[in-house]
Amino acid sequence: TTALSIQDLRKVYGNGFEALKGISLDVQQGDFFALLGPNGAGKSTTLGIVSSLVNKTAGKVSVFGYDIDTQLAQAKQCLGVVPQEFNFNPFEKVVDIVVTQAGYYGIPRRQALQRAEIYLGKLGLWEKRDERARMLSGGMKRRLMIARALVHEPKLLILDEPTAGVDIELRRSMWDFLSEINAAGTTIILTTHYLEEAESLCRNIAIIDHGSIIQNTSMKALLQKL
Ligand code: ADP
Ligand code: ADP
Repeated sequence: TTALSIQDLRKVYGNGFEALKGISLDVQQGDFFALLGPNGAGKSTTLGIVSSLVNKTAGKVSVFGYDIDTQLAQAKQCLGVVPQEFNFNPFEKVVDIVVTQAGYYGIPRRQALQRAEIYLGKLGLWEKRDERARMLSGGMKRRLMIARALVHEPKLLILDEPTAGVDIELRRSMWDFLSEINAAGTTIILTTHYLEEAESLCRNIAIIDHGSIIQNTSMKALLQKL
């Protein structure tokens, strides 16, 4: 099964800038996949389009076979997204942020609370459940974003620079957590500009530069070339 399929994807922003020049990419179910590339390469644009936060100019995207143009609800059901920017309500309580998100997927409140306890617990945030989100440290906010993205138990989790600005100790524990959910069956795609992060986590990679994919290979093969 193909978890994510991207065909000839193009993005021209409103100012005329061509951020994606027709990229194609397949990620298989169960993979732990990294989208690598320098700042400005087009990584966030790609993930923004997949999560339907950014409109594409041309091309096709499907998530577990669901086309994001014609079967968006089904595609979204399969997809959890952790964008770079914190976009929760900072005045809401931690537990409510996760439970509210569950509501968008039609999960009953009792079950939503159970899920919140599971995922906030796994991410070391259950003790913080009654805090306002704005009171959390940067690393905790990042983990809250991950818990929220997992509450509907998506088959594909996409993270944009998940450990940017996170200290090395927390980064290691986030890597362990992501490895664990991947081992349990969740397909994961992340963007990073740390090669070390991709190296310790990912099986397959694509490198994007100036809006084009310049490599698409296994991590092993990439390391042999370096
Ligand atoms: P679209 O063409 O997809 O509708 P726009 O060009 O209208 O997108 O820009 C969307 C938003 O992104 C605007 O609020 C704009 O200010 C902001 N933006 C513009 N240039 C950049 C940039 N280089 N990097 C990040 N954001 C930008
Ligand atoms: P990356 O995530 O790899 O750092 P992005 O996808 O954020 O790259 O950006 C790719 C290119 O598109 C950059 O040159 C960026 O400045 C530009 N860009 C991003 N958003 C916008 C926007 N809204 N309007 C115009 N240009 C943008």
